Amino acid sequence: MVNKFSTTKIIPNFERLITFMNPIKISLINTIFSTDISKIFHYMMHLSQLISNYTFSSANRFLTYVKMDTQSDPKSIHNPSTEKQKDLALLLVKELHELGISNAHTDAFGFVYARLESNVKKEVPAICFCAHMDTSPDCSSLGVKPIIHKNYQGEDLILPDDPTVIIRLNEHADLQEQLGNDIITASGTTLLGADNKAGLAEIMDAVAFWQKNPEALHGPISIVFTPDEEIGRGTDHIDIQKINAVYGYTLDGEKRGHLENETFSADGFTIKIKGISQHPGFAKGKMESALKIAAEIVSNLPKQNLSPETTEKMEGFIHPVDIQGHVEEAQIDFILRDFDTLKLIEYGNLLREITFDILKKYPNSHADFIQTEQYRNMNEILKDHPLCISLAMEAMKLAGLTPETTSIRGGTDGSRLTFMGLPCPNIFAGEHAFHSKEEWVSVQDMQKATETVIYLANLYTIID
Ligand SMILES: [Zn+2]
Repeated sequence: MVNKFSTTKIIPNFERLITFMNPIKISLINTIFSTDISKIFHYMMHLSQLISNYTFSSANRFLTYVKMDTQSDPKSIHNPSTEKQKDLALLLVKELHELGISNAHTDAFGFVYARLESNVKKEVPAICFCAHMDTSPDCSSLGVKPIIHKNYQGEDLILPDDPTVIIRLNEHADLQEQLGNDIITASGTTLLGADNKAGLAEIMDAVAFWQKNPEALHGPISIVFTPDEEIGRGTDHIDIQKINAVYGYTLDGEKRGHLENETFSADGFTIKIKGISQHPGFAKGKMESALKIAAEIVSNLPKQNLSPETTEKMEGFIHPVDIQGHVEEAQIDFILRDFDTLKLIEYGNLLREITFDILKKYPNSHADFIQTEQYRNMNEILKDHPLCISLAMEAMKLAGLTPETTSIRGGTDGSRLTFMGLPCPNIFAGEHAFHSKEEWVSVQDMQKATETVIYLANLYTIID
């Protein structure tokens, strides 16, 4: 086969294609190619040629999107939390219309939906690509002035509007792989908004590619852009029926080649303490201060392990996030996190034990506990859907990357979508140092993410 197609020199991806085609047969569980493998070869060479002839538009789109302030607001009772997110939604709809997707629209909650019809005859499962439009409330996004640092050579990137903000190679390990690339940063006073406007631009660029290259085959594709992801409300009003897809992919990850298929499982935990109040002048032997009980509980939490500041990788934690009260009543709110959902029960029990132990010294006080589910590790569902993971991994290989599955010490819109019936791992978008003034993304990583989307959509058309 290698000899038959002696085009290795012409098509840069061809060698990868050869190594790709054999392992895919093994790696795709229960999957058989419906088409003759030599036809697939020819077609993939053609697609790779179309991609190399394409002028990517993601960087230009990105520069427009980041200039729009779309910060979400956790205190708002409105949906979307901030009206300004709708401005970006309207722009995205307009751009989708210009690309010929006439069904693109936004709804009252500020979501953008669009659907691309399949351009192949056979039946292909519909897939969805998803990104969020809002930026983090942790850092201003008002008046973002993006700067392109062309042909980065490892120098300090000093941001002009606040020269104390310096992006240094030794503090951003992933910059090592960006030598020669074009890095986009903000100007020093705001975040950049690569999280997640890089994802928006990459998906929009894939749509632009498909419109320009009707020979690039794909099945039905749903696009959804969500508001309020950063405040944990990105899927509250999502219309999963309208998305109508078998698998989804968020483009909201960090390093190129990474596919996140695991998130934390998360519970909230509240301890409500009832103490005994007395006039402080006459309290001897009677007062039991709920405030002091609460303080003792917090100071008795595990310190060497099970706390955010002493854990990493796959380790979970118990984290007090709020404490308030007075003598008679106090309340402590915690978040519990672990990749193993069962551990959350253990963490809740540990908090009960610590509390009961302290209450031994306060015989007339008592405590109530409330444990509430927040979100679950998406891998609990994704492990039963190996196809959507392996195809994404193969698509990244076709884009010339070395794919790797990783886990997120947090949650994504995808974790909720997965549990709503749309298995939804997270593909890299190239965004780095999120929620900070040092945020950056490279033009070349954005192009690789778009390539991954194009190959991925195509791979769904060649499986049975
Ligand atoms: Zn994000």
